[in-house]
Amino acid sequence: MEIEINNILVIGANGQIGSVLVPALQNIYGKSCVIASDIYDNGDANKVFEILDATNFDALQGVIEKYKITQIYHLAAILSAKGEKNPQLAWEVNVNSFINVLEVSVKHDIKKVFYPSSIAVFGLNAPPKNTPQNTILNPTTIYGVSKVAGENLAQYYFTKYGLDVRSLRYPGIIGYQSLPGGGTTDYAVDIYHKAIIGENFDCFLKANTELPMIFMDDAIKATIKLMQAPIENIKIRTSYNLSGMSFSPEEIYNSIKKHYPNFSIKYIPDFRQDIADNWVSSIDDKEAVIDWNWSPNYDLESMTDIMVTMLAKRYK
Ligand code: NAD
Repeated sequence: MEIEINNILVIGANGQIGSVLVPALQNIYGKSCVIASDIYDNGDANKVFEILDATNFDALQGVIEKYKITQIYHLAAILSAKGEKNPQLAWEVNVNSFINVLEVSVKHDIKKVFYPSSIAVFGLNAPPKNTPQNTILNPTTIYGVSKVAGENLAQYYFTKYGLDVRSLRYPGIIGYQSLPGGGTTDYAVDIYHKAIIGENFDCFLKANTELPMIFMDDAIKATIKLMQAPIENIKIRTSYNLSGMSFSPEEIYNSIKKHYPNFSIKYIPDFRQDIADNWVSSIDDKEAVIDWNWSPNYDLESMTDIMVTMLAKRYK
């Protein structure tokens, strides 16, 4: 019997998701088998770490060879709000680094690749409620455009080379462990921090802007479940719809107010409102449920309970 070797490279490991995914992978595969990488070192000594710019193919290949990597989680990206300020950089990082990952994976016989897509792939012509897996994708942000390209590249490399690329369309991710990196759903993390430190919150979206969201623990659970599913269960090779919950700024504010009755909010919409106006508000993820048994554990109220408890400890 062939023994499976799991040497895992996480690219973009210092970000909001990577800083939670790396310890989760360490727990499963062991610390020495998880190689974290990013364009900067955040000084966290609790992991094996390499500085790596994934837009540099030779540097990427060097790390793959050095650690005999067999799996890649490619998290590096420029997110939606940041991307609108520098579209060329967003394309360079989001698309070209992914092509490097795909090419190096074919060349070095990488067994599995994880690629995060986003609800930003949907645009105004997609059904906005309970958006189905297979629908029109005409995003209005460079971030969404780059993620649609990434999804199609994932499917292309699977079909042409048999590369086992697996992907999720993450909703906005909310966690207490790390800070978000410049997306349109960032407000839903910031709002908890402001409530806990006793400040008022200026919200960059309007009160009734409902968007799909997910608690970090559910996002990590989905990622690991997808990556551990038997290959024959993975029927979608672009990217799976994934749903956790949906809410508006007013709804999350009311849920926090139950814990902090004096907390106040002001709505000051900026350019991110235009981005959100083109996004869908809830997601139908039945393919993920059927193919690899997906179900989230958290809704808005249970997430708020944990967020306020954990952040109150942090700021004590
Ligand atoms: P983040 O911005 O917090 O982290 C991204 C990391 O990538 C950063 O640490 C950054 O330094 C690194 N990076 C940037 N350019 C790089 C390069 N050239 N080479 C290597 N590393 C580079 O993002 P995140 O929230 O952790 O998101 C991770 C992935 O999940 C991204 O692909 C993002 O598009 C996707 N996603 C995130 C969310 C969310 O709500 N956080 C939602 C949908 C999809």
